[in-house]
Amino acid sequence: MSSPKSLTILGATGSVGRATLDVVQEANDRARQAGKEPVFEIISLTAHSDWVLLAALAIKSGARHVALSDSRYGDQLKAALADHRIAIDLGPQALIEAAARPSDLVMAAIVGAAGLAPTLAAARRGATIALANKECLVCAGGVFLQAVAQGGGAILPVDSEHNAIFQVLDQSDQVEKLILTASGGPFRTWSASAIAAATPEQAINHPNWSMGQKISVDSATLMNKGLELIEAALLFAMPEHQIDILVHPQSVIHSLVAYQDGSVLAQLGAADMRIPIAHTLAWPARLVTSAPRLDLTIIGRLEFEVPDLDRFPALKLARAALKKNGAAPTILNAANEIAVQSFLHRSISFPQIAAIVSETMDEACRLGLDAALGDLDDVYAADQAGRSIATQYRDKRRFVSV
Ligand code: NAD
Ligand code: MG
Repeated sequence: MSSPKSLTILGATGSVGRATLDVVQEANDRARQAGKEPVFEIISLTAHSDWVLLAALAIKSGARHVALSDSRYGDQLKAALADHRIAIDLGPQALIEAAARPSDLVMAAIVGAAGLAPTLAAARRGATIALANKECLVCAGGVFLQAVAQGGGAILPVDSEHNAIFQVLDQSDQVEKLILTASGGPFRTWSASAIAAATPEQAINHPNWSMGQKISVDSATLMNKGLELIEAALLFAMPEHQIDILVHPQSVIHSLVAYQDGSVLAQLGAADMRIPIAHTLAWPARLVTSAPRLDLTIIGRLEFEVPDLDRFPALKLARAALKKNGAAPTILNAANEIAVQSFLHRSISFPQIAAIVSETMDEACRLGLDAALGDLDDVYAADQAGRSIATQYRDKRRFVSV
């Protein structure tokens, strides 16, 4: 890499966004120490409401532009950046415009379907997209992939499992199976009755990974692995029956590809998002990072289990949605976002997350709302329908047996 690679980070204040800025800073510091040009330059950083952190990150990284979707904090953000030459834009449209600004790479790290519109703007202008925001892919499916193809850009998977597969998948059509590993989350060894009483604090206390609240709850229900199953099917054009889920509590093997000749290739590493992030930022080159090194003699043993679909029904629901395809994954994702928020706000119990998703899927099917997605309007209609049905079921259940 000779001239700096320009980068926009959507969701810069989040767990993936901050890890991305850490990787950028380390690469630029190493280059400076070696008397070389910086490796990356930051074009734009976006956030939803955390203007304090957004301002601090923009100043530290030398960003040229920031966009904050919650415009109520616009005055504070402007005051915080008054002494800096950093352009500021406010409101949801500002995030779309930030993604549309020219840059070599866009890190899509907003959480949830809220990331869809900005990520699509990056896709339409042909940017290379480092994709962490799995919900936007699950939500818009083929419509999103088509926008990427028409724009002439590409997706580099950041999600650690998909990044692992990307690293070991060759171009052959001789793949027998993709095997996504799952840590099993914080409740892997809990009884069904203990899981029924789980609190938000327990659910976000992931054993191996430090992540945002929503994905942490998804990891506890195993819906995260369900969303990743759909993500893998889309990213690697693989049918549902050729993708397996393997519980691997140590999170050392990040996923595997089984070939028809009996070879199985895996990618291993510490459970540190800086590794897959660095891979996507530098691809096809590699960066030096200070992420922890893997010492298999310290780890000693690796364990594997079949996922328990009775205690973790969300995974079953996601597989059913993938089999159905059409708008079913969109509705699954929308219902899950409503249910997870409700659980975090203590309006429903932990098992009610999967129950609400299941009821929403059934109702959407009864109403014929899970038909094929023709265009973006269909995506937004299905997303809205999923949210509205899930909210109705949530309100019926609110405060029941919590
Ligand atoms: P997070 O909650 O830590 O950060 C979310 C970011 O999105 C923040 O910058 C926030 O300001 C922004 N945001 C939230 N709501 C928004 C809205 N309505 N409009 C615009 N911006 C909004 O989340 P995270 O853990 O960094 O995860 C981000 C994405 O990456 C998720 O899709 C997650 O599934 C995926 N992912 C995360 C990890 C991880 O280790 N954290 C690993 C793999 C994939
Ligand atoms: Mg993952």
